[in-house]
Amino acid sequence: MGSVVVEKLTKDFSGVTVLQNINLDIKEGEFFALLGPSGCGKTTTMRCIAGFEKPTSGVIRIGEKVINGLTPNQRNCGMVFQSYALFPHMNVFDNVAYSLNVKRLKGSNVLKKMATYTRMLNSRLVKYPKDIEKKVRDILEYVELTEHAKKLTSALSGGQQQRVALARALVMEPEVLLMDEPLSNLDQKLRHTMRNTIRKIQQDLKITTIFVTHDQEEAMSMADRVAVMNEGEILQIGTPTDLYSNPRTPFIADFVGTSNIIPGEMLDPEDGLSVIQIGNQVVKSVSTADKKAVQVIIRPENINVLKEESKEYDNSFEGEILFATYLGSIVRYDIKVGDYTLTADTTYESGKNILKAGTSVKLGVSPERVLLI
Ligand code: ADP
Ligand code: MG
Repeated sequence: MGSVVVEKLTKDFSGVTVLQNINLDIKEGEFFALLGPSGCGKTTTMRCIAGFEKPTSGVIRIGEKVINGLTPNQRNCGMVFQSYALFPHMNVFDNVAYSLNVKRLKGSNVLKKMATYTRMLNSRLVKYPKDIEKKVRDILEYVELTEHAKKLTSALSGGQQQRVALARALVMEPEVLLMDEPLSNLDQKLRHTMRNTIRKIQQDLKITTIFVTHDQEEAMSMADRVAVMNEGEILQIGTPTDLYSNPRTPFIADFVGTSNIIPGEMLDPEDGLSVIQIGNQVVKSVSTADKKAVQVIIRPENINVLKEESKEYDNSFEGEILFATYLGSIVRYDIKVGDYTLTADTTYESGKNILKAGTSVKLGVSPERVLLI
């Protein structure tokens, strides 16, 4: 199993820069997520690591080895694509066995051997060497596809196809597993199940994994560390809790979870707390900033919605409920405060009424929960 190091990776497509100075240091056995909006360069980064794309500049290493000059096959990376990229005319077993066979066929006259192999496969005369047969059987059992081994992949459900794609990558015993939006074609419920399946397999095999997604919840729930990307650059790398509690830019605060982001102006500090003017109100924070114009970040769950004013909070505002959204275990309120609309999440307690639009409320926020960027 290898670590993956990417140093100063850039990539231009006909003069247009799509990756700028990407640096990654992924530890052996780590589950690492690349998170960012569509078009930010996640797939291109993956393709450079896998060897399908040639970097304009930069160095990529697996373990100690620089792999820039190697073909995809020589890199020992397993890849799972969003579209699965299975052979629809082959059954599950043959799909999973394919690369093992092709690898074995290498040497002289590869093309001729491959043609022979494909012909045998088509006429179903293919007989696999015993060790390949066993490897494929084992991996199919591992991903719970044994009973589907003889089915065409086109006859399988999305979740099953996903597991074939996973089995096909894993059977090669890669040093690094690369997964590019592997769950985005699945429905919501299956996506949740597959998250757990993938995470469990990754922990079982302790395989270094890079997982690309545009879904922050997916990245945050699965990965040991997450790199947030935007417009061809890495903005911040950290553990999910790191990113959530200390986003370095408003973009990250907004992309990783939900945030109230309000522009404010720093006043003189009081009692060791920063004081920020927002519209005609002030808010206090334990954070500091060395500039006058700041963005005030407050997570929805850190706004306490109260019936009456409480001395418990250093920050107290008057608000009016605009909208309530019942989300099962929480109720999300949009609340008008001065010129701004804030989002507040409260725990839903059964038997308790959800506040109606128009209700006047007090909001309490502790200065520890007010972040300045
Ligand atoms: P993501 O996977 O984050 O959605 P991509 O890596 O696919 O983003 O794309 C990043 C940018 O590079 C996009 O603007 C895309 O249009 C561009 N791009 C990707 N592949 C090519 C290519 N082969 N030729 C030209 N532009 C490309
Ligand atoms: Mg992509």
